[in-house]
Amino acid sequence: MKFYNINNPSEKVSFRQAVLKSVVNVKDLYMPVNIPMVPQKVFTNLFNMNLPEIGYEVTSALLGEDIPSEVISKIVNDAFTFEIPLRKLSRHMHVLELFHGPTLAFKDVGARYMAGLFEFLNRDEDHEITVLAATSGDTGSAVASAFYNRPGIKVVILFPSGKVSHIQEKMLTTMSGNITALEIDGSFDDCQNLVKQAFADKDLNQKLNLTSANSINFARLFPQTFYYFHAYAQLADTSRPVVFSVPSGNFGNLTAGLIARKLGLPVSRFIAATNINRSVPVYLESGLFEPGPTQHTITNAMDVGNPGNFPRILELYKNDISKIRNDIKGYWFSDRQTMEAMKILQDEYTYQADPHGAVAFLGLSEYLKHDDCEGIFLETAHPVKFGDIVEKATGRPVELPPAIGNLLTKKQNAVKMKASFDEIKTYLLSASNPN
Ligand SMILES: *Cc1c(COP(=O)(O)O)cnc(C)c1O
Repeated sequence: MKFYNINNPSEKVSFRQAVLKSVVNVKDLYMPVNIPMVPQKVFTNLFNMNLPEIGYEVTSALLGEDIPSEVISKIVNDAFTFEIPLRKLSRHMHVLELFHGPTLAFKDVGARYMAGLFEFLNRDEDHEITVLAATSGDTGSAVASAFYNRPGIKVVILFPSGKVSHIQEKMLTTMSGNITALEIDGSFDDCQNLVKQAFADKDLNQKLNLTSANSINFARLFPQTFYYFHAYAQLADTSRPVVFSVPSGNFGNLTAGLIARKLGLPVSRFIAATNINRSVPVYLESGLFEPGPTQHTITNAMDVGNPGNFPRILELYKNDISKIRNDIKGYWFSDRQTMEAMKILQDEYTYQADPHGAVAFLGLSEYLKHDDCEGIFLETAHPVKFGDIVEKATGRPVELPPAIGNLLTKKQNAVKMKASFDEIKTYLLSASNPN
């Protein structure tokens, strides 16, 4: 499959380049030149297929010419070792639990698939690559866990000191081997700027073969299409229109849903549910896209002022706003509403949701007032990741899932650093192989 850069459509590249290049220039957004329909026989069997089987079929439909089938098989079987169950909350409302992976957020899905793919793409290279990423919490832990012990790949994660939750910090700092966590005395924006500086530094780039694992990379986005198929397959009744409500920040998750639909999944509509970082719901209403500065909320994984994947959505619809409005409904909510929603979910549905899932629930509830459909909202993180807020909202303690194991007693080993590029550069160069 050829890919093109939506910011420069005449630039066509191979899948390998699209995946490994979007890292160097973060402005490059690649899309496949053609999104084929998944074969009809897959839809006939969908209800009997598990997540790796769906991942195998969907990958084969788009990337069958780029990746040998036994490699596709290995990537999906290694990546999807956990469940993504659909639970029924009321007659026509369901929740898709995307948080059963090792770091308890949906970002495991993209990161684990991407890690398998990078290992394959880098197999014949004689040099190590270094994945460098800034994180406000979920991405860094998912990437660290996914790349742990992969041959030929090192990972360096920058996180803002004191600004990630306790569990997130444990997940980020308790690995060793090929994973290094840098605890930066600064904000998430400082971390991001440092990473940008690193990518712009020729010397560092050459010596370390820097690669990013950020969410505009198609390799992370694409596997997120699989769970839309998997959710659909778990519905007992598909006679009514199916609607997904997606709690959105950088809009990778929603873009993946739209791609799933292009691949043939019969979804009626998507709901873009955001916090007060509402540039997309405002665009859907006014027709003007005016990204603003990031505002901080209790749903911090969605605190994105200028969603990086939104241009991909415009591209999928060739900028036709009436078509976009027909397929996507936008709603945004305040922290107060999100707190109330967690309480309602607990009291009326005996369901403990995390704040991000609660925003998706709010979006779906709003939508269901106007349309009869089967509604599915995406629960993107386990409530324990935001335990303090959930306990405050629901008045109930959050139970630790068994998947956490002995995480909380593990020894942390982060390297503390000032938010200084020179200091980080010196560290990275000295830590890299002196040969
Ligand atoms: C990253 C994240 C989101 C936002 O997903 P996007 O793909 O960036 O829109 C929502 N919820 C949680 C828990 C996340 O970690």
